[in-house]
Amino acid sequence: DADDLVKAVDRIMKHADGRRRMSVRANADTAEDAARARRFGAQGIGLCRTEHMFLGERRQLVEQLILADTDEEQERELAELLPLQRADFVELLEQMDGLPVTIRLLDPPLHEFLPDITELSVRVAVAEARGEKREGDLRMLQAVHRLHEQNPMLGLRGVRLGVVIPGLFEMQSRAILEAAAERIKAGGVPRVEIMVPLVANVQEFETVKQDIIQVARDVRSETGVHLEFLVGTMIELPRAALTADQIAEAAEFFSFGTNDLTQTTWGFSRDDVEAAFFSAYLEKGIFGVSPFESLDVEGVGELVRIAAEKGRSHRPGLKLGICGEHGGDPDSVHFFERVGLDYVSCSPFRVPVARLEAGRSMTGPR
Ligand code: PEP
Ligand code: MG
Repeated sequence: DADDLVKAVDRIMKHADGRRRMSVRANADTAEDAARARRFGAQGIGLCRTEHMFLGERRQLVEQLILADTDEEQERELAELLPLQRADFVELLEQMDGLPVTIRLLDPPLHEFLPDITELSVRVAVAEARGEKREGDLRMLQAVHRLHEQNPMLGLRGVRLGVVIPGLFEMQSRAILEAAAERIKAGGVPRVEIMVPLVANVQEFETVKQDIIQVARDVRSETGVHLEFLVGTMIELPRAALTADQIAEAAEFFSFGTNDLTQTTWGFSRDDVEAAFFSAYLEKGIFGVSPFESLDVEGVGELVRIAAEKGRSHRPGLKLGICGEHGGDPDSVHFFERVGLDYVSCSPFRVPVARLEAGRSMTGPR
């Protein structure tokens, strides 16, 4: 009956857990996701995508931050965002107490936060035709035109946002570190890892890292709490993989973003492939399966292997994980075992499968 089945599954999971070398984490953005991930046996959070914390009502605050004209305006928006972010992180760290939590700094393609250009143009045109002056809309339209990109996925995203928008990554790092300090004061054990997305070269990572270190100094002296945390990077661009030895000099961990790495290695858009040509490729057998679903071992996988080797040649023991969708795909999990990653991270629902496959991968090549 159902009870026996549950017991049998439990035995299989225990068996797999006993064999596996890699740990299994989950991608989770909220305390609720984190609680679910723990129930499925996740040993930490491998990716918290902070952009998901700015949907709904908060979207407006980010929009205003991006479009702010003056430093004062920018500072005002950041000051409003800080306590909201801190509260998010306190909840998350509480839920994952004692386990590693990798929090990724903001990484949305910019257009996700900008007002729709067509809608705005129409509003301005209609107002003009009526002889009305809409100063605010007009200024907004100019700003949106200035920031408009043909390829937002290759545009002002990830670390580039941190470099271009003063105070943004500092605000997020402060929120993370203040949350960690609060947890420590409450007797908790926060294990924070701050992750920088879309890094292509070591200098841009280093620029952001120095800002984070300064924030940490400030938070330490303001709270009197001794904070320990890691600063690392995603490896999700071919250039980052190929210069991983340089990046490892500054980064304390790597997490492979195989979604973007697949997109940029093949040179096709994550968002547009399905409609454009994927079904024809699958039909003609050019792909057996989409490389977004199962890791392309010869191309994307080779970059992962090179980056792991180069990274560790420079920093022995460098912590390596994967947080792209492939982290929960059975065949891909076996590949990650072979190249020596420390953990895979996937959606909470795929955690049991990843645990099983990570255990099975210890029995030899598949
Ligand atoms: C990735 O690129 O694989 C990744 C995990 O980040 P995102 O999907 O959020 O771009
Ligand atoms: Mg990515």
